[in-house]
Amino acid sequence: MTKGYQRSEELFAEAVKVIPGGVNSPVRAFKSVGRNPVFIERGEGAYLYDVDGNRYVDYVGSWGPLILGHVHPEVSEAIKASIDKGTSYGAPTELETRLAKLVLEAFPHFDMVRMVNSGTEATMSALRLARGYTGRSKIVKFEGCYHGHADSLLIKAGSGALTLGVPTSPGVPGNIASNTITAPYNDLETLREVFKQAGDDIAAIIIEGVPGNMGVVPPKPGYLEGVRELTREYGALMIVDEVMSGFRVAFGGAQGLYGIEPDITCLGKIIGGGLPVGAYAGKAEIMEKVSPAGPIYQAGTLSGNPLAMTAGIATLEILKRPGTYEYLEEKASYLADGLAKAAQKAGVSLSTNRVGSMLTGFFTDKVVDDFASACTSDTEAFATYFRAMLDRGVYLACSQFEAAFVSLAHTKEDLDFTIAAAEEAFQVVAGS
Ligand code: PMP
Repeated sequence: MTKGYQRSEELFAEAVKVIPGGVNSPVRAFKSVGRNPVFIERGEGAYLYDVDGNRYVDYVGSWGPLILGHVHPEVSEAIKASIDKGTSYGAPTELETRLAKLVLEAFPHFDMVRMVNSGTEATMSALRLARGYTGRSKIVKFEGCYHGHADSLLIKAGSGALTLGVPTSPGVPGNIASNTITAPYNDLETLREVFKQAGDDIAAIIIEGVPGNMGVVPPKPGYLEGVRELTREYGALMIVDEVMSGFRVAFGGAQGLYGIEPDITCLGKIIGGGLPVGAYAGKAEIMEKVSPAGPIYQAGTLSGNPLAMTAGIATLEILKRPGTYEYLEEKASYLADGLAKAAQKAGVSLSTNRVGSMLTGFFTDKVVDDFASACTSDTEAFATYFRAMLDRGVYLACSQFEAAFVSLAHTKEDLDFTIAAAEEAFQVVAGS
């Protein structure tokens, strides 16, 4: 058990006075699990250490980027070497082309990539590009998918917006919301109807490669293919948001895993190696419409930042090595099996979804294959489980509607430690 949380509580009390909710991103607040967040002092490999001296096996990995674990020596050394050459120039560097080429190696059907500073910027820019390219104004997104916090995407959104009960955020103007059509995920029939009614006005569909923001909900066999066909039929673009799944479920992301060729892809998280980066990629015909090659404007003072490019290059070079994704698959499957057995032993209903090293155990006896079934989860039971795991030194995402990420730093011992903690935590749930 942990040693208590006194210093975290003190720091949180100070933070809430000067930062809304005490955090700079709502998902970190632990609000929906009925306690205050722990404050982190440092990370190392698979572990986080908090300000009270507690150690946690970390399955958040900064919400996905840290697929190599914390402070990977090769990434750290590269960043340290880069820092001495300056932190930003606002001028081109060779590093940007190197990272672009590495990204394009993973997505060989694309020709060009533009770097931005976050996943939100990537999706926002991809939508503008799709609208500018097609000359149409409507977009389709799916219930429970999260694509960052741009106005037009905060409609029936997942992640923190869902967890905190504001999937459609106040502050999004009605005229913007009216250009976003939402459809149920994993349901081709309804999507076909949407296109029948509004197909000529739809610029693009945006979809998570493997949704992780309503918890992990894999696409049904044939679903992404069906979305691809429909968009082609109606002349709309297909944007696959791989901010989370890119370089995570496979080097080539969900589109590589499922054999889909979208028109535009959004990236982020892993490609920045823990520093702030986003990107969007596509074929030259589309990407050359982006300024200054073309008229569709998009810019960024810190875009292509040399430290972020350096961290991204180092990370992708390591991920390219043979055995990486096999290791992640083996470890994540071992963990998912162990957790499922632990839940069963305690008599707790747990429905586990996993794609590669992304997984979610939903507290429900239903198969979770869409947003409605994800919502059958017992979020109180999840909150109890979350707190019990934290007290036992396991740091999970503080919401039922998020993924756990296994990294290359997790050892079998870390996973066994986690499963042993879960055996106790599920007993706590069963007794509550
Ligand atoms: N798209 C997806 C699929 C995401 O998971 C996220 C963030 N979790 C975003 C977009 C937004 O990225 P960022 O938080 O870097 O703006």
